[in-house]
Amino acid sequence: MYESVLQGALELPLAQKKSLIECLKGAVLAQMSSVHAGDPSECPRCHHGHVVRKGRDGKGRQRWLCRGCGRTFGTSTLGLLAQSKLGPAVWASYVEHMVEGESLQRCADLCGVCLKTSWFMRMRVCEVMRNVLAPFRGGAGLSVQIDEKYLSESFCGNRDRARVKMPRQAHANGNSVRKRGLSKLKACVVTLVNDLGDCACEVVGRGKPTKGEVKAGIEGCDLEGSTVTTDSLASYASPLRDAGVAAHSRYNASVGDGDGVGMVNALHERMSSFLSRFNGVSTRRLQRYMWWFCWSEQVRRSDSSSVEALRAHVANGTYRVTRRMLTDEPQPFWEYWEGRMPEVTEDDLWGPEAMSILV
Ligand SMILES: [Zn+2]
Repeated sequence: MYESVLQGALELPLAQKKSLIECLKGAVLAQMSSVHAGDPSECPRCHHGHVVRKGRDGKGRQRWLCRGCGRTFGTSTLGLLAQSKLGPAVWASYVEHMVEGESLQRCADLCGVCLKTSWFMRMRVCEVMRNVLAPFRGGAGLSVQIDEKYLSESFCGNRDRARVKMPRQAHANGNSVRKRGLSKLKACVVTLVNDLGDCACEVVGRGKPTKGEVKAGIEGCDLEGSTVTTDSLASYASPLRDAGVAAHSRYNASVGDGDGVGMVNALHERMSSFLSRFNGVSTRRLQRYMWWFCWSEQVRRSDSSSVEALRAHVANGTYRVTRRMLTDEPQPFWEYWEGRMPEVTEDDLWGPEAMSILV
């Protein structure tokens, strides 16, 4: 089955891939001038709701004054690439090299920027990818498969920082965690995939997800009326019921009853090979790489209708994470290392309810 999936990817017409890349490029460039229609509803810095018009800038563009923080801002203030000193041509060529799978260093060389800037550009393009992701479609008759993917926690980029002390020995040379199987040392990504090939990947926590984490993972995906298949984890039951699914069936891997979660397993295979080329992704940045992965999935299965859907979703959001904030981003799920992890009992995960309705 995987072979046929891979074959499908290879057969995707070049023109369609190109048009999706063009779309991403357009979205990146749109962020440089981040044009908003009408007055903004809030301050891009402090998110205060009271903003008033305050003259025009040198190029005749409207500026606003925030009554909350007292600072003025223009249409492009804190827009995704507004502060960038690099020209549109550099960004456009960066996007192209990045989606072609070039390394950070190679992208840096090709675009004439330093390695650090190359990394920063990659993070920003990932955010644009999130903006152009087509929504996860649901509805009657659609079948959805949900599963978790566990990835070893990585502290990349944390060691230089004084306030984060490595809580364990480094996994030298990118070797994986010694402890086998599932543990709290793995970050959990809740992944969804449907018949149409839509996918969503959300980094939710450590180890087996709780109800709250599943809820966070499926939030933003329209599941109403869909038929959902998951594994036998009990945490799925109530969040899915709340999401209004038509039916929820559970697949028991140990019985091995056929291809219950085949689509999502194939997705996990592709995710592993996507991530393998990065030599370890910091858990802090994992969600960004998940957006990138979802975007590349979108490219892989693109048809003309999804290209149109993408065009309709051209990014118009503003960027709220500065370079400094990105550097200071905390390592997620840190409570574990400080011993503040809420206890999850086996019953929460594999409760009698779960075990009794195994299918
Ligand atoms: Zn403000």
